[in-house]
Amino acid sequence: MDARKRIALVAHDEMKPKLIAWATTHKATLEKHHLYGTGTTGSLLTAKVGLDVTCLKSGPLGGDLEMGNLIVNDGLDILIFFWDPMTAQPHDVDVKALLRISAVQNIPIACNQASADFFITSTLFQREYTPNLPDYNTYINRIVQDAS
Ligand code: PGA
Repeated sequence: MDARKRIALVAHDEMKPKLIAWATTHKATLEKHHLYGTGTTGSLLTAKVGLDVTCLKSGPLGGDLEMGNLIVNDGLDILIFFWDPMTAQPHDVDVKALLRISAVQNIPIACNQASADFFITSTLFQREYTPNLPDYNTYINRIVQDAS
């Protein structure tokens, strides 16, 4: 991944104030990167923090899945996702899908403010980095039973 990273930002409703506060603190660093957000999170980051964010659909309306699609197609480098461990989400399966596909693709995920602090202060945040891409060839070329 390039020094200028493609960073996805998402926060569940109860966590949005935390993400906005964190993004305000780190605005100068974040604005050096290309930012993506689910609809409401992205709009708030623009309105309240002044960040330029490419907004996808709102999470419960498919935004998490759009983000997953970007990850599958090598369109995102980092996921910062302040998910809410205390509130049931209508789109829980989409959240799981996004987290799962991030693990499949070896995407770094910060799931709360502390992990986001570690990310943004890492020297890797500001320079090129080549993650080890998992090799799924064994899986792709596995032998499966056919109908005959
Ligand atoms: P939102 O979606 O930013 O549109 O609220 C976040 C989510 O719940 O996935």
